Amino acid sequence: MKVTLIKPNIGRREHSLYVDEGRMEPLMLAVIAGLTPDDVEVVMYDDRMESLPYDDPTDLVAITVEIYTARRAYEISAEYRQRGIPVILGGMHPTLLPAEAARYADSIFLGDAESLWHQVIADVRLNKLKPVYKAPPGVGQYNRVMPRRDLFAGKGYLPISLMQYSRGCRFACSFCAVSKYFKRQHYIRKIDEVIEEIAEQGRNFIFFVDDNIASDIRSLKALCRELIPMKINWVSQASLDITQDAELMRLLADSGCRGNVIGFESITENSLRDARKASNLPGFSHYREEVKILREHGMQTWAAFTLGYDHDTIESIIETMKFARRNRFTFAAFNILMPYPNTPLYSQLKKQNRLLYNGNWWLHPQYRFNNAAFLPKQMSADELTDACHHIRKKFNTPLSLLYRFSDLKTNLRSLWCVATFWRYTTLYRKEVYKKHNMKFGLK
Ligand code: SF4
Repeated sequence: MKVTLIKPNIGRREHSLYVDEGRMEPLMLAVIAGLTPDDVEVVMYDDRMESLPYDDPTDLVAITVEIYTARRAYEISAEYRQRGIPVILGGMHPTLLPAEAARYADSIFLGDAESLWHQVIADVRLNKLKPVYKAPPGVGQYNRVMPRRDLFAGKGYLPISLMQYSRGCRFACSFCAVSKYFKRQHYIRKIDEVIEEIAEQGRNFIFFVDDNIASDIRSLKALCRELIPMKINWVSQASLDITQDAELMRLLADSGCRGNVIGFESITENSLRDARKASNLPGFSHYREEVKILREHGMQTWAAFTLGYDHDTIESIIETMKFARRNRFTFAAFNILMPYPNTPLYSQLKKQNRLLYNGNWWLHPQYRFNNAAFLPKQMSADELTDACHHIRKKFNTPLSLLYRFSDLKTNLRSLWCVATFWRYTTLYRKEVYKKHNMKFGLK
């Protein structure tokens, strides 16, 4: 028996294909391969840079689907189904929108794979694939399941190992699909299993892809203590409230944490309230103290902003970029506020009749990547799109790069930090131009 795992691309540029040069390992597919019994052959294809072998014989195609790849995933599914090969779709998007996903596949897998993937394999062996598998969200890779990282060989992924300690987040930001998927629960792996996995994979640069690794501060401190003797460099995603705990900040730095993706979201308190960004609000004083603490601990911060709240204006959007530049963040993402399906933000905009693209921008043939998909209050959708693209370019001019680089406490702190700064800022700068206005899907 043979199973084919697929990671879809987002789509293509208007006049050429899009090859994702900053692609990272699709960890979840390697975990699914690790959950698959040894007598089943598993192959993995990554649509982001290789062509898919539609005509190769296989008994099941499993495609991981995120909102940005849904349109392309459904195209791939159609190709295989035309050839009589059964397709199962899984991931966050089918779980949040099962009725939609079911229209494009023989079977859908809802929830986390760990507790039910063996049943899918057993059913395929009997030629009795069910239309729906419904598994609860939960602890990742329990029972020492190791991802099959051998499947990544030769695919040109960035030299950073992806790993997961926990899933979910205790906060409930209004735009966040994670909070909806995990219902504000936080699931944590056993630390000894994580440590074993780090030792086994051999690299010393790890990206913990946790939704919010700081959702449970106590468990994060416990992880840090175990990481100290391993002498690795690691990064992750964390809420800004880490800065309120001095012991945690010390442990993060000592354990090799070099930075986190942190959701600053907005520089104005009103917008933070709109976003229900509880982690940023207590004692809000324009992040002065938080940024200082991050810098003092040498963190190369990736500041993530969402723009387009009802209080946002063109001026406040430009101010956001200046704030990010002034604070010399190593990286910054200026994301347009997106109505992800099934989130409180989506329901609110729908009720107010402000959704564009019939409310399903992720499938709409006219929608383009990085474009606003709703009517903002204080500008047009096009103005929001253009303002965000403008500040992404401004943040990435050579002068801005040099200014941000010249920070002795972070980007110039060590050779490792210097190399990381240039390797990734150059890559992301290119992506700003390449990805803007991309079409979803290939057709
Ligand atoms: S803190 Fe991050 S992961 Fe948690 S709910 Fe907010 S946006 Fe989602």
